[in-house]
Amino acid sequence: MVDALSAGAGPALEAHVYRVPLRTRFRGIDVRDGVLVRGPAGWGEFSPFWDYDIAESRRWWACAHEAAVLGWPDPLRASVPVNVTVPAVGPERAHAIVTASGCRTAKVKVAEPGQSPAEDLARAEAVRDALGPAGAIRVDANAAWDVDTAVARLRELDRVGLEYAEQPCPTLADLAAVRRRVDVRIAADEVVRRAADPRRIDLTAAADVVVLKVQPLGGVRAALEVAEAHGLPCVVSSALESSVGIAAGVALAAALPELPFACGLATVALFTADVASAPLLPVDGALPVVRAVPDRLAEVRADADTDRRWRERLAAVLAAGVPT
Ligand SMILES: [Mg+2]
Repeated sequence: MVDALSAGAGPALEAHVYRVPLRTRFRGIDVRDGVLVRGPAGWGEFSPFWDYDIAESRRWWACAHEAAVLGWPDPLRASVPVNVTVPAVGPERAHAIVTASGCRTAKVKVAEPGQSPAEDLARAEAVRDALGPAGAIRVDANAAWDVDTAVARLRELDRVGLEYAEQPCPTLADLAAVRRRVDVRIAADEVVRRAADPRRIDLTAAADVVVLKVQPLGGVRAALEVAEAHGLPCVVSSALESSVGIAAGVALAAALPELPFACGLATVALFTADVASAPLLPVDGALPVVRAVPDRLAEVRADADTDRRWRERLAAVLAAGVPT
């Protein structure tokens, strides 16, 4: 469905709701959906996960609004190295995903509910085998462990050689405690993007790397401010967007002064279809710094019920106002 959407005092925006099944269950979801909006500067994506409330979703809208109405800062680079993302699959599948990707860095999901430490280790070993000794492996536990569990699991997983571990535990204090006890670098993700003000949390003792997600941080400019506030190496990761939303992450990665690690922006590979006939998928381990054109909206159009739910959600976010 297409109709005009009035975003406060700004220009009217065209809005389309998409819905795409995932290849593998990821982050507890099997289907990704969201709203694409078109404004004078191009296309933007608004797709907060359904467990984000209206207040938290306002930053996600700020990102879509920036993309559609304001545009992005000039890029400092023409391509962005990316990691392949390996969901909580078995070792054979993990090996095949890495080999097919052409990426030299892999992010391996660990601590999936219902799975054992042995399954995590087998997956990490398969990924090391696929990448070879020169490849980089990072793991992401999505805050699932307590401190002692994280220390034990990371020491074990580091047998394959870890570049860093993303958010092994929930809180800043937990991350600092783990960081004191393991040799693996710690990356902060959830503690940054779900903070009331991601610029103001103190990461000094808790993290070596900051994960920046452009939608939950409120857009490219807002995420650049978060990077500047912390002064740590940054990795840009997706929130599992379509190619339209991924382009905003690519714009952020392209605008960061330093980009020492591969970014987690190759996640369109987890979709069974995309909004664009030229999706933002890596070639030789990198994404080009381009904007995706969603020319396949008819193929991924959401059903009427999903469409209605997104329009109600977006209306509620617009009524709540964009955060400053
Ligand atoms: Mg993460």
